Amino acid sequence: MAEVVPDVKLLDYPHDPLAVIYVAYRTCYSALPPQEIRRRIDEGKISREKMIEFLERWLPTGHGSPKQQVNFTFGLSGMSRITSHQFVRHHVGIVFDQQSQRYVEFKGADFPYVVPPTWVKAGMVDKYVALMSQAARLYQEALDAGIPGEDARYVLPHSAATNIQFTVNFEELLHIADQRLCTRAQWEIRHFWAKTRAEVGRVCPELKKFIQPKCGEFRLGYCDETLADYQHCPLSRVRPHKSMIPTRPTPIPSSD
Ligand SMILES: Cc1cc2nc3c(=O)[nH]c(=O)nc-3n(C[C@H](O)[C@H](O)[C@H](O)COP(=O)(O)OP(=O)(O)OC[C@H]3O[C@@H](n4cnc5c(N)ncnc54)[C@H](O)[C@@H]3O)c2cc1C
Repeated sequence: MAEVVPDVKLLDYPHDPLAVIYVAYRTCYSALPPQEIRRRIDEGKISREKMIEFLERWLPTGHGSPKQQVNFTFGLSGMSRITSHQFVRHHVGIVFDQQSQRYVEFKGADFPYVVPPTWVKAGMVDKYVALMSQAARLYQEALDAGIPGEDARYVLPHSAATNIQFTVNFEELLHIADQRLCTRAQWEIRHFWAKTRAEVGRVCPELKKFIQPKCGEFRLGYCDETLADYQHCPLSRVRPHKSMIPTRPTPIPSSD
């Protein structure tokens, strides 16, 4: 019986994601065409520092489309079906292809599954594994009795592991980080998104710092959860709660 190792690997990405996003923004605010802006980057006339400084100002704004110009493709394995169900609820700017439990049969009374660390900590992992073994045996018995895989799988638990290839644009990657790097998200999806962030950092370290939970300085800049949740969060030591943000007076509309 196989307990799985969670893994995420960046499989494909643009040659220079930072330049793609920068050129998209600059095209909107410059007399120069994008080809010329890109030529200046490739010739070193526009430095990496300058592009980052520019993005620090523009990424947190409502001008979102430049972030959608960059797509990253990841291979993911060892995620429980519980967490994949949470993950595939994201649907704007992201595409998934997930291993089918209808067409893939797990042979030999064996299927990969995830063990939450809390079961280990509570000293109950043996009972957990015993139940997985029982489910696997019944699954195999069902297959042997001629029940098709698509129906035999009904005895597989939520902990059964799955594999996914997904492609996500940078705006949605940031949005998922808003929700899933937040300590209110469940540990498994939080770990997967932290690994996803690390993978982006491996090929484009300049973009990694923008991938934050929603309270990060490049996102909302404060926690918008309840005060009770905020007080339980370790990030409350460094980030304010919404109730601590002074309310600004409503601007008087101008007449022109
Ligand atoms: C801590 C936590 C707890 C949760 N608990 C539950 C739960 O108990 N039950 C449950 O069912 N779900 C739950 N969810 C899932 C949640 O409601 C969302 O479905 C999920 O997080 C996907 O996020 P999203 O809607 O932002 O979708 P994304 O696809 O990531 O959307 C990106 C953004 O696009 C916009 N957008 C997306 N779809 C539309 C649309 N149809 N129309 C207009 N704008 C759109 C929104 O601005 C959205 O934020 C939970 C999520 C979190 C993080």
